[in-house]
Amino acid sequence: MEIKDIEYTCPYCGKTFETRLYEAVNASEDVDLAELSRSGDIFKHLCPHCHTDFMIQNHFVYHDPSRKFMIVLSNEDVPYAMREYAKPMVEKGYRLRHCKTVRDFTEKVQIFEDGIDDVLVELAKYDSFIEFIDNRKGNAEEVTSIEYQSTKDDVMKINVRTDDKGLSFLIPVAGLEEVVSSQQDRFQLDEASFPCVDSAWIISLYLEDQQEEMLH
Ligand SMILES: [Zn+2]
Repeated sequence: MEIKDIEYTCPYCGKTFETRLYEAVNASEDVDLAELSRSGDIFKHLCPHCHTDFMIQNHFVYHDPSRKFMIVLSNEDVPYAMREYAKPMVEKGYRLRHCKTVRDFTEKVQIFEDGIDDVLVELAKYDSFIEFIDNRKGNAEEVTSIEYQSTKDDVMKINVRTDDKGLSFLIPVAGLEEVVSSQQDRFQLDEASFPCVDSAWIISLYLEDQQEEMLH
C-alpha cells in the first residue's frame, strides 16, 4: 500500500485537520484495505471538529494480482508513462482499466470479482436503458443511475433508477456475448492504454455508428 498524510480543510466547518489518503492497494496483501476500497469507504474522511464525513476522491490504484486486474481511479487521464509499465501486465493476461468516479470504481471491482467481462456489462446497461425508454417507463432525463447488480446462472441483473422508482432488467449473458463476438472490431479494447469502459464509452460507440449511417 501507498499512503500520504495530508492537512485538509473541512469543506463544512473550514477547520483543518490531518488525514490519511491511500494511493495504492494490493488486494492480496492489504486485505482489510481492499475491503474498504470495494465499498468506497476508503475515500471517506471524518472531520474531528464538526464530525461531518465526506469523500475525498484521490488518485488511487487498485491491484488484484490473483484475479489479474488493475484499476486506476482518477479524474484525469492515466499518464502516458503507465503504458510501458502496462505492457508486461497485459502479456500476463491482465485487464487494466481507468475509472473516473468512485461509483464506477466500486462497480468495476465487483464486476471483475464476479469474473464478468465489463464490456458485456456496459452493453447490458445500455440495452436496459434503451428498453426502459422504449417501454415508456420513463424519460431519459429522469434516469439517475444504471447499476450492475449481479450475475447468476448466466443472467445479468441491471437496475435502472429514477428519483422515485427502480426497475430491474434480467439480461442473458449468452445474448450479450453474441453481440460482442459478431462485432469484435467495435468492442476491441487496447488494454495497455487503461481504457475507460463506462457508459460514456458505450454511448460513443453507438454515436459513431449513427454518424456513419448519416454519411452513407
Ligand atoms: Zn468540519
